[in-house]
Amino acid sequence: MDVLLVVDIQNDFLPGGALGVPEGDVVIPVINRLMDRFVLVLATQDWHPANHGSFAANHPNRQPGEVIDLNGIMQILWPVHCVQGSSGAAFSTRLHTERFAKVFQKGIDPEIDSYSSFFDNARRRSTGLIDYLRERNVGELFICGLATDYCVRFSALDSIQSGIRTSVIEDACRGVDLKPGDSAAAITQMRQVGVSIVDSTEIVRRMNHR
Ligand SMILES: [Zn+2]
Repeated sequence: MDVLLVVDIQNDFLPGGALGVPEGDVVIPVINRLMDRFVLVLATQDWHPANHGSFAANHPNRQPGEVIDLNGIMQILWPVHCVQGSSGAAFSTRLHTERFAKVFQKGIDPEIDSYSSFFDNARRRSTGLIDYLRERNVGELFICGLATDYCVRFSALDSIQSGIRTSVIEDACRGVDLKPGDSAAAITQMRQVGVSIVDSTEIVRRMNHR
């Protein structure tokens, strides 16, 4: 079975949010259309406690964008975002969330960040997504959402490394581009390890012919 994974379409990652991804809202209608084409749609949600170590505000004299050593792992510091239960952590109301069969939350441990939908950044804790996919005998995982150069990228890399056929739907993703070109580099990196980079119109057309 083909599965669609919708990554982090949360208010804080949309324009106007605490960590708004430029044009992040543009992908919502694209993803809504895609969801109609999949029997199984899953989602991830960045879901941090207020004392999370990825927040610059939790480190004295640190600013967002700086890089620190967080328990042995390089950590980019972010503005406070996606705090559990906050409106910023909620999914956009424009997103057809009723199609989500299951939501996998990540970034719950204050000691470590989690960009990937599968594992935290030290690969210590699993979100449960890998077992869920294996139990359902996933054929191919199609990934879309925010952001291309962080959570989409790390999810795709973990997916392909776990032996799952993986596609990223490029026009249903947008990137942070903290450094200009980060998203383009992420696409190149994903492609190099065997991730297919596809377009939503191609997926919708392909699904029509089944
Ligand atoms: Zn986060």
